[in-house]
Amino acid sequence: MSIAPYTDLSRLCIHTITTKPWDIETAARRYAAAGVKGITVWRDALEGRDIRQTGNMLRNEGLSIVSLCRGGFFPATDKNKRKLAIDDNRKAIEEAAALGTSLIVLVCGADPAQNLEDSRKQIQEGIETVLPEAAATGVKLAIEPLHPMYADTRSAINTLAQANDMAEAIHSPWVGVAVDVYHLWWDPALEQEIKRCGENDHLFAFHVCDWKSPTTDMLLDRGLMGEGCIPVRQICSWVEATGFTGFNEVEIFSTQYWKEDQPVFLEKIIKAYKEHT
Ligand code: ZN
Repeated sequence: MSIAPYTDLSRLCIHTITTKPWDIETAARRYAAAGVKGITVWRDALEGRDIRQTGNMLRNEGLSIVSLCRGGFFPATDKNKRKLAIDDNRKAIEEAAALGTSLIVLVCGADPAQNLEDSRKQIQEGIETVLPEAAATGVKLAIEPLHPMYADTRSAINTLAQANDMAEAIHSPWVGVAVDVYHLWWDPALEQEIKRCGENDHLFAFHVCDWKSPTTDMLLDRGLMGEGCIPVRQICSWVEATGFTGFNEVEIFSTQYWKEDQPVFLEKIIKAYKEHT
């Protein structure tokens, strides 16, 4: 199945971290003026602000608040650290509700002092522990599998199959997955696992960017769509085929792009979105 590139911006969302040099007020104004319709808010962008008022400000700009990034980081060999993680996830749920978004993306975490299986068990326990609060406030949780290069400290969930397995094991309408092309493009089972998300009705979010080749940094060298080796449009077509009608979220951490003039970078994002997603 092939799908034509997006010609309008009605499903374009940008993560605040993508234009990190801008504060959230500037980002909101600039995105809205450029015709962008969605924003995903990173928690650092809310520091020192009244979260409810910030949510109102974003809606007044005409933006949909697609998700809050991020919760997670559940595993730790130290029981006290696991408890702190639960507290922080409960806080994230409150923040999401105050902001007025119905989704939190989970970077699930890992502790290199224990094996990945134990970390995965603690992730599942952690999600199940905060699930009542999530359901009570109407906030969904999306498990985002991360590229295996982050399996040491950032996530013990590294394939979409693992994320699907966990979402199915938890089996709650409040728990699903986030698909990010940067983390998953290499996986030979990707098309099939995206289909499985759709069949289980738990594809909650879709993140796009590109993998630059060569990449110069494991975290902060993401590229614009079309700039690297990820078949972004093909993956978009697999996501579309599930019936997904949510936003396509541009999530780029890049020291190079953060140094650029941000209005020019925003123009590049929109051009790349139209041409390569
Ligand atoms: Zn992502």
